[in-house]
Parts: sequence; C-alpha cells; structure tokens
Amino acid sequence: MQPLTHLSEEERMFQLSVRRFAREQIGPHVREMDETGTFRKDILAKLFEMGLMGIEVPEEYGGQGGSFFQAVLAVEELAAVDPSASVIVDVQNTLVINALIRWATAEQKHRYLPKMVASMVGAYALSEAGSGSDAFALQTRAAQDGDHYVLNGRKLWITNAAEAGVYLLFATLNPEAGYKGITCFLVERDSPGFRVGKKEDKLGIRASSTCELILDDCRVPAANVIGELGKGYKIAIETLNEGRIAIGGQMLGLARGALDHAVAYARQRKQFGKVIAEHQGVQFEIAQMAVDVEAARLLVYNAARLRDAGLPFVTEAAMAKYFSSQIAETVASRAVEIFGGVGFTKDYPVEKLYRDAKIGRIYEGTSNMQRVLIAKHYLEKPL
Ligand SMILES: Cc1cc2nc3c(=O)[nH]c(=O)nc-3n(C[C@H](O)[C@H](O)[C@H](O)COP(=O)(O)OP(=O)(O)OC[C@H]3O[C@@H](n4cnc5c(N)ncnc54)[C@H](O)[C@@H]3O)c2cc1C
Repeated sequence: MQPLTHLSEEERMFQLSVRRFAREQIGPHVREMDETGTFRKDILAKLFEMGLMGIEVPEEYGGQGGSFFQAVLAVEELAAVDPSASVIVDVQNTLVINALIRWATAEQKHRYLPKMVASMVGAYALSEAGSGSDAFALQTRAAQDGDHYVLNGRKLWITNAAEAGVYLLFATLNPEAGYKGITCFLVERDSPGFRVGKKEDKLGIRASSTCELILDDCRVPAANVIGELGKGYKIAIETLNEGRIAIGGQMLGLARGALDHAVAYARQRKQFGKVIAEHQGVQFEIAQMAVDVEAARLLVYNAARLRDAGLPFVTEAAMAKYFSSQIAETVASRAVEIFGGVGFTKDYPVEKLYRDAKIGRIYEGTSNMQRVLIAKHYLEKPL
C-alpha cells in the first residue's frame, strides 16, 4: 500500500510538466488577464496542446486516457499559478467530459470527445437566478417537437460560457415532476435560439468567464439528450459529487501557491536587522500555513484516489472541498500579512490569490451545502 501523497512515476512526470507549463507559460500573463478579465486565446490553445483539456478521455477519442486523480493534479498545479486557468480545465474535465464519458452514447462520444480534446471548450449549465443551492428548482423548460427539443429559459453563472462551443445544460420537461423532470442536453453554441448573455464582473478568478445563457425557443436535436429523459438530476448530482474534489484541488493549489510566495518573501525581506523568516512570529505563521496545506492535500488526494478505486467517496469529497476552500482563504490571508504593505498591492501575486480564494466556498455547492451533506452522513450512519 502506497502512502497517499506518494505519486507514481507517471503521476510525478505529469505533475512536473503541468507545474513547469503553468509557471513558464501562464505565470507571466496572470496579472494582465486578471486586470482585463479575459483569458488569453494563446494560453487556451496551449492547454489543448498539452492535452489538459481531455485528461480522462480514452485514447480512442484522442485523449490522454488519464485518471481522475491526474485531472485533480492538473487543477492543483494550475491553481498554484492561476486559479482562473485552473477552473477552465476543471470544468472541461471533471464536469463536462466526465459526464460524457459516463452517460453519453457511443455515437455522442464519437461526435463530441475528439473535438473537445482538440479545441472545443465545454461549459456546465445548471444554476439559474432562482435556483442555486436548490439546484433542482430550475425553471428552464424543454418541450419535445418532433425529433427536436425546444428549450426556453435563462442560465446564470456559467463558467467557460464565453469560450465554450458546447454546453451541458439541464432543463425540465415537467416542472410539476420536480427533480424527476430534469433532463440533460448538449447544446451547441450555434444552436438556433441560443445566446451567451452578460458576463459577470467578479471579485476573483476574473480571467475565467462567468456568463448568463439565454434560451429563446432554442432547438436542440433529440440526439443530444444525454442519458435518460428525466434522469438529468442523477447526472448533475454525480458529476458535482466528483467535480467538487477538483475544486478542493483548486483551493489546495491556490493555498500552496500563496505559501510558496510567502516563504520566498520571508527569506529575503529584512526587518530589525535580519530576514523576517528568522522572527519566530513569522515562522509560526508559515508552520500553520504548511500544516493547513498538507491536511488539505491529504483530504483531496484521498477523495480522488477513492473515486478512482471505485470506492465510496462522496462524504470525503465534500470534506475535501469544504476544508480546502476554508484553508485557501486563511492561508492566502496570512500570505498577504507576511508580505506586509506590498501584499496589499497588485504588484505581488498574493493579493490576487486572496481574492481568488473566496469562490471556493461558493461554487459547486456552498460551504453550508457541504456541511449539510457531511452532517447527514454522520447523523444517519450506524454507530
Ligand atoms: C464565479 C462563479 C462560477 C460559477 N460557475 C457555475 C457553473 O459553471 N455552472 C453552474 O451551474 N453554476 C455555476 N455557479 C453557480 C454556483 O454554483 C452557485 O452560485 C452556488 O451553488 C450558490 O447558489 P446561489 O448563488 O444561488 O446562492 P444561494 O443558494 O441563494 O445561497 C445563498 C446563501 O444561503 C445559504 N443556503 C442556501 N440554502 C441553504 C440551506 N439549505 N442550508 C444552509 N444554508 C443555505 C448558502 O450556503 C449561501 O451562503 C457559479 C457561481 C459563481 C459565483
């Protein structure tokens, strides 16, 4: 039995290649992308070239044939440099492609997976203005019309929406049926009646697009229903159960990035005649940050490896996301303080990591929703 954080040779090589890519190719553009609120097209193209937009896609469709754990490693490594780049890869792999691998027909896989590996960005559209935590109260309607479905409604907060060519979108065939009406569709960007609406101006992960989707009599071929009619709720629950492990990975990477910056700064900044790393008060802060990062890593890696092993992982996934997003905030906050005044400016990267950390407690289920899930498990399990 291997220790949890021990990586196989293949995993280690993969981790190092993503780390190098993130530092060398993304690092120099992080500030500019944050300020402009846009993700550079050349970096997106490189994410495809690196195979990072189809990590788990089987080789027969042109993918890497990698593991879910590798997808989490990629998300972590990218987040240490730029949590925006990280979430683009996260949604593509752990939500959209993950759902297609599990629920799409062979014909649908042949139609979409090769494109998604090569150049097509995917988005995952569940939330609406009136349905966030209560996701299955969604109001977007789908009605059958011959060999098509006609979709009407609005989706909100959709990551990757600006860049995406395809949207995994949840709509209801019958609102009276509650969650049992929910059905999952693949909607192409150029579908008649489909439009990407307003882009949000955000606190953090500003280079990752978050937009409204507008469906006005949007026509989608019946061949684009993913899974069974009325079983979309199952696809949504199960993809989010897995996806949130990678959000834990994103927050872990962010915290590790902030810790690394703080350590580097503490080693060179002098006050009272010595580098601040020699002051015990600063050492204690670094120690706490390191323990938090390591604890988050154990939770995230364990949940990801449980998932790959086909073992129960849902409570562990919620814990990983809940804890990692909590420590990402405190570690980034401590990093800002270790930098002192300059930490509060945009000239140093910790200010951005501090802003980026906030989203971890909100998307893919708020911290409260993770606590609901964890508490339910503990209150219902036999003692
Ligand atoms: C940057 C960004 C990107 C996103 N990307 C996507 C995406 O790609 N696809 C997508 O579908 N959605 C996406 N979302 C939406 C996100 O998943 C929701 O914002 C989130 O689920 C919370 O929903 P809400 O905003 O409606 O908040 P609400 O559900 O209104 O929650 C508000 C507050 O009430 C609390 N609360 C609600 N219900 C309960 C309860 N039962 N018990 C205790 N507390 C409760 C919540 O914890 C929260 O603190 C994104 C959001 C953001 C901000």
